[in-house]
Amino acid sequence: MPLVFQCRACRVVVGDSLSIEATNDALGALTLTRVAALAKSDEIATSTAAGAVDRGSTFHPLTCAGCAAPVGKVYVTTVPALDALRGRYTLDTEAISSYELGMAGAEAPPLSLPVPVEQELRTELRKVQGVILSLHERLSAVEARGGRL
Ligand SMILES: [Zn+2]
Repeated sequence: MPLVFQCRACRVVVGDSLSIEATNDALGALTLTRVAALAKSDEIATSTAAGAVDRGSTFHPLTCAGCAAPVGKVYVTTVPALDALRGRYTLDTEAISSYELGMAGAEAPPLSLPVPVEQELRTELRKVQGVILSLHERLSAVEARGGRL
């Protein structure tokens, strides 16, 4: 089933699996051709982290339009292994969460009753409790006198 990708921080929808161009486990990222609610910075940064798969590549940082959290990159120049990612939207899988279409209710807890129905039931229950209590009191009184019903 298709997946909807959301910003992990604020849950804004940032894209979906219908536009996946590539996934890259070593990079810990997936690359989309189209995205929603993402802001691409005009600045160009360089990946310098030691041991990073994309070390030496340059990119425009991508941030969530909802909360400004960093979510990925648009590569400008890349190491040869990442050529296919240039100009696309490469999202850090740690920065996004996904929702699979059709999974509504699959693992969610059971729905609680809507509040008005619940309140109505409670009111009815209190009335019934009142009736039972009054019957019990009358029964006790009759028993105390040694009488019969
Ligand atoms: Zn966000």
